[in-house]
This record gives sequence, structure tokens and C-alpha cells, in this order.
Amino acid sequence: MTVSNSIPFLDLITPHVELEQELMGVFRQALHTAGFIGGPMVENFEKAFAEFCDTKHSIAVSSGTDALLFALVASGVSDGDVVVTVPHTFIATTEGISQAGGLPEFVDIDEGTYNMDPKKLKEYLEGKCTRDQSGRLISKRSSRPVTAIVPVHLYGQCADMDPILELAEQYGLLVIEDACQAHGAEYFSRKLNRWRKAGTMGRAAAFSFYPGKNLGACGEAGAVTTNDQDVSATIKMLRDHGQSKKYYHDLEGYNGRLDAIQAGILHVKLAHLAKWNAQRRERAAEYNRLFTSTRNSTLLPHEPSWSRAIYHLYVVRTQDREGLMAHLKAAGIGTGIHYPIPLHLQKAYDSFGYAPGDFPVCEAVSAQIVSLPMFPQLTNEQQARVAEEVFRFLQIADAPKPVAAEPMPLAAAEHSA
Ligand SMILES: *Cc1c(COP(=O)(O)O)cnc(C)c1O
Repeated sequence: MTVSNSIPFLDLITPHVELEQELMGVFRQALHTAGFIGGPMVENFEKAFAEFCDTKHSIAVSSGTDALLFALVASGVSDGDVVVTVPHTFIATTEGISQAGGLPEFVDIDEGTYNMDPKKLKEYLEGKCTRDQSGRLISKRSSRPVTAIVPVHLYGQCADMDPILELAEQYGLLVIEDACQAHGAEYFSRKLNRWRKAGTMGRAAAFSFYPGKNLGACGEAGAVTTNDQDVSATIKMLRDHGQSKKYYHDLEGYNGRLDAIQAGILHVKLAHLAKWNAQRRERAAEYNRLFTSTRNSTLLPHEPSWSRAIYHLYVVRTQDREGLMAHLKAAGIGTGIHYPIPLHLQKAYDSFGYAPGDFPVCEAVSAQIVSLPMFPQLTNEQQARVAEEVFRFLQIADAPKPVAAEPMPLAAAEHSA
């Protein structure tokens, strides 16, 4: 490892070097048994991950995108169905929906949590949908039946699920969680008066084990969690060419299995996930402490009392985002933007016919957010240096002021909430 002063956005080397012997053991076992696809390594990981998530089943698949696709298909989303989601997410959310034959339609996000705004969902269902003669819920926009909702637990924080689930029940809609950034995140249900884990609240949920996620493989991987035996059984067929047994194809499926080596690696790393998530929460608390003096706390991540986030990302909001990123880059500090272009304005989705202004919260947020370095092994010293450079930039960027007794706000407040 270098002793350079630079601070990466994400450190994927340290945790793997620390676990090198165990991880090499997985590879050796696979070589010695030639168990490369399926088998006990995959089944053991599935059991352990279901236990971690508090679900009856977990089905390992080849990516988070496939997890979402299989979860939607197995839960009964069919060709031409509208699936409601948010424009503020990674495109894999809508890829999963489209590949399942669905048509994504969007509702705006909540400005505090950056997740689906239940009030916007209510407005959509009440105002943008109608009933046909047979009582089906139809989108006025596309004239297609609305059958499912995909809330995304972005940045490691659950969407506000109680009102979303209530609306889903009221309108007879399926809920599939995109939990690809939320392994271990928790949500306090006021309705049930208990904490619930991400991945347990809908019919099924998709997780990604892309290397940079809180639980990452050394390659591509994903999983579906569900408490539904039929959904689980269907996904096991879908991922394996629709086979119920060898060469008996009950349906046309996919090549969407998980490699045994990746499952073994994930199993080794899963044992550390609770600790890593706790460390991320400590790192987030430390950033919050360092940035307290910015006063405008709405620009720091907002964690409602009903949320225990696992800080896949630590995202702040600032007016001169590009300036701040350039300053931090020059200081050797890595940052990212998650995500710069809302999905409804992506070229790929021109044909959906959305326009700028359709989802104002998402559009305002995506122009101002920046993700600071966040990983379990981040040190207090590194975070202090990030904070120091953020303050230095804001003092340069803002209008001249008398010698500041305390650091400048993170950004001038342009929203009052
Ligand atoms: C990473 C991610 C996905 C897709 O997962 P892959 O494993 O990369 O296919 C889907 N949705 C969200 C929100 C993600 O962050």
C-alpha cells in the first residue's frame, strides 16, 4: 500500500488483503472439487444470506440487475405492465423492469431522504391513473395496467415503506424492493411497531454484490430475497434456463446463475458485513460531527428516526458541486456523483417522452449532490482532511467574509425545509 496522502473514494484493496488467506481457500476448494457452478458453496451462502436478511429464502443469481428481473418475472409482472419507480437511481432499476416486459413510470423523490416520496406516489395513483371497465388500474400516460411498485433503498437507506405498502395494498399492487445498496439497512414500521430489514418488506427484493457494494463479490453477483416459496422456486428455474430438473425446461429462462467461487467469497465476507456496516455508520456520524458547524444540516444526509441506514454512500448537497469536486480532486480526495442525470432525462429513455421539469426534486438534487469517500476502513484523520478541504473550498468559493469565527455553511441554503 502506498503511504500517499490521497484518500480514495472507495478502498476495495484493504478488506480483500485482510481476508486473503480465507479467500484463497475458497478458490482452492473450487479447484479441488471442480465445483464451479451451483453446489454446496452456493447453497450455503444462500442460507447464510437469507438468515442475515431475516427472510425464508435467498436465491443467488449473477447480478443485481438479474435479481430484479427475476424477482419481477417470478412475482407475476407481465408484458406491458406499468411498474412505478423513481428517476433518482442507477439505470439497472429500470433495466430490470423493461427486461421483465414492464414499462417504467416515475414518481418524484423526497427531498430529505432522496427516496420515493409516498405523497408523490399517492398523487400518481390518484391523479395519473384511472380504472377500466374490469376495474384494473390504468396509467393515463401509457394506457397500460399498473401492477407493481419498485421502491429503491438508495445510498443504504430504506424508503419510507409503511405508506408505500399501504398504497400498494389499497391499489392491489406488487412491491419489489430494489435493495441493491441496502444490505442490512433497517426500517422501523410504525404500523407493525418493529424494525424490519431491507429485503423483507415486499413480495421479493433484489440485492447486488457488485464489488463496490457493502457486500461485494470479486466479480459480478446478486441475490433475490423472498418469503414466498413459489417466487423462490420460480427464480431457481429462471436463473437456470427454466429447468425443473436437468433438460426438463418448464419455462424459457436465462443463464443467470452465481459462480460457486463468488458464493464462497461472499460467504467469507458476509461474516464481516454487520461489523463493516456498523463502521460505516460510525464514519457517517464522524462526518456529521465534523460538518455540524455548517449549520444547514439539511445538506447533510438526513436519517429519519425510522431509519437505520448502512451508508453505502455518504452524500452531501452543495451549490457548486463541480467546483467542490475539482477542489477535492486537486487535494487527492476521490468523490463521485450518484447520479448526475435523472433516468427520465437519459437518452435511452427519450421514447418515454418525459421532459425537464417533470420531476423537479430529483432534477434539483441530481445537480447538487456529491458522494464523499465512504468505506469501513476510513480513518478519523482522513475524514478530518476531507472536512478541512471542504471548508477551504467553501471559503474560497463564497463571497469574501470577515475572518470567520467558524467554518462557512456547506452551501447557501436555497431550500428552506
Ligand atoms: C448496483 C445496483 C443495481 C444493479 O446491480 P448489478 O449487480 O450491478 O447488476 C441495481 N440497482 C441499484 C440501486 C444499484 O445500486
